[in-house]
This record gives sequence, C-alpha cells and structure tokens, in this order.
Amino acid sequence: MSRLRGLASTLDDPLLVTNPTNIRYLAGLDSSNAVLLVEPGGGTTLYTDFRYAEAARTVPDVTFVETRRDVVGELATLLAGRRIAIEAEHLTVARFEALARGGVELVPTRGVVMARRAVKDADELEVLRRAARVSDRVFAELAREQFTGRTERELAWWVERRLREEGATGIAFGVVVAAGARAASPHADPGDRIIEPGTLVVVDAGCVVDGYCSDCTRTFATGELPPSLASAYDLCLRAQLDGLAAVRPGTHGRDVDAASRVAVDEAGLGEAYGHGLGHGVGLEVHEAPVLRPESEDVLQPGNVVTVEPGIYLPGVGGVRIEDLVVVTDDGCERLTTFTKELTTVE
Ligand code: ZN
Ligand code: ZN
Repeated sequence: MSRLRGLASTLDDPLLVTNPTNIRYLAGLDSSNAVLLVEPGGGTTLYTDFRYAEAARTVPDVTFVETRRDVVGELATLLAGRRIAIEAEHLTVARFEALARGGVELVPTRGVVMARRAVKDADELEVLRRAARVSDRVFAELAREQFTGRTERELAWWVERRLREEGATGIAFGVVVAAGARAASPHADPGDRIIEPGTLVVVDAGCVVDGYCSDCTRTFATGELPPSLASAYDLCLRAQLDGLAAVRPGTHGRDVDAASRVAVDEAGLGEAYGHGLGHGVGLEVHEAPVLRPESEDVLQPGNVVTVEPGIYLPGVGGVRIEDLVVVTDDGCERLTTFTKELTTVE
C-alpha cells in the first residue's frame, strides 16, 4: 500500500499536512511551500505554487492544484465550511487564524504522520544503513588523525568534509567536537581552543544520505586520563550497553531509558547524566520514538533510534557514546559499528 493510502485508511477527518518533511515522506515532493489534503478513505490533493508545479505534476496518486504563493490563504477559501484536521505541532498561529477566518473548522491533531514515519520500511532501512556506513568510515579514519594541538573547530570541519567526500549530501546537524572541560556541555559548539593531551574529546556527527540521517558519537582519549575521566568512560559504556540490551519491541521508551541509568545511579553519578537516552532518526535527526524518562512511546520493529547516555563532570570533562540501532523482532541491530573500546589518539 502506498504511504498516502496507508495514512488515508486511518483518518477520521481530512488531514491538512503542512509539515514539509511529512509531505516529502508521503508524496516524495521536496517543497518549502506545499500542502497536502488527505481525505479519509483515499483521495489526496496537493497544493503548491508555480515554482514547484513541474515537480508536483509527477507525484503519483494525487490531484495537483496550482495555487498562488499564499497557499494557505487560498485554502481558506477553497476549504470554507469544511471540518479539517491540522498538524498542531506545525501549523503556525498566523496560518491557523487565516484558515479559521475563512470559515474552516479546524481539528488539532498531533503526531499522525510521525507515527507512520517512526516505522521504517526495507528501502528506508537500506538508506539508513548506508548513512551509518559513511559515519563508520569517517570515525575509523578520525581515530588515526592528530587531535592534540588542533582546535575543536579544525577537527569538526575535517569531519564534515570527510562525511561529504564519503558520499553524504550534507550533515544532519553541526558536528560537535568538545574537548576537556568543554565536553561537560552535551551540545557544545566547537571552539577555537586547542585540544590538550590527557583528556577526553566528544565527537558527535551525523550525515544525510538520500534524505535520511545518521547519528553517532564516540569519545576519544588524548593520552593517559585522570582517574575520574577514565571511570566516567567505563561507566558510560556500561550504561550504553545496558540501554542497548533493553531495546526490543513492546518496551516503553521510558523503560529503555531507565535501564541505562541503573549503573550510573549506583555509582552516584545520576545527576551527571542529565539528558534522555535517545531519539528516533529518519528524515529528521530527531523524530519519534523517544527514549526519555517521560516517554510513553512503545518500541516496534522498524523503529530506528539512538542509544546515547552521557556523563558530564562540570569543570573536568565529559563522555557520550552513541549508536544508531534498528529495532528488530527480538531486540536491536546496531547500524553504527565503530569500536566503543576507549580509543587513544595522538
Ligand atoms: Zn548524536
Ligand atoms: Zn543523537
């Protein structure tokens, strides 16, 4: 069944899809100014302006209507008097008001298309595997690079360039290279500080291949470590392996997250692990399902998630270890395979 027909069969009200990533997923159209109206039981209309008309005409299983640049303004007239479900997490207040003023009855919904995106089909998994392999190759090469004496920014650019040279069409997010005390901030921007010997360097990088993202973190040692960082690394790896072991269908996101915290809490470092265990990855680098203390999501085969605990010691340093995995029928399979043994670099 096509993605559009699959979605249509689950709807109560016609759904106005305004999130461009959801439109890309459902119709294969990459447009900054398109709207899909999916009718329950089938029949989809694609609205976009002249700039995307040629591409829109090639989209299968939709009726294409060319609109002026203000697509939603025109829809306010076209849909007047109808009851229409909207993507509450995406439609702006201004667009909501324009539709309401036109006389459209609006029903907010959340995560309808995302729930479908969360379960990857075989073709999507193949692309995600390729994206992860690009990451793997670059991390393997990175382990042979000189770290000390270079800045975080220099190394981050090296990673970005190599990801692109290895086949990525882009990066999934700004590459994180955080050394020494700066590694105590989970999302530190790479800075102009020189990487020193005898510390940990967190490298978090993801690339985009055929529209799909990879996401991987490894933490490298630049020589002999102070005992607090050496034990933080071991503890983070324990937490990561415990998290991986808990990933299986039918498990709640919050329970997978909890499994990764047992050893960290026992070591008295619960406070140092201040973020969730992981997130879904696909067309976007943060999507459903999520592995967090408050997550109600239930894992299903075909979900692709990260497993990425971190230990952050203010003023000292930090460690995070992240794999991208696909949920299988009885557990999970790692897509990122570069070693997690502590790797010492020059
Ligand atoms: Zn990451
Ligand atoms: Zn991540």
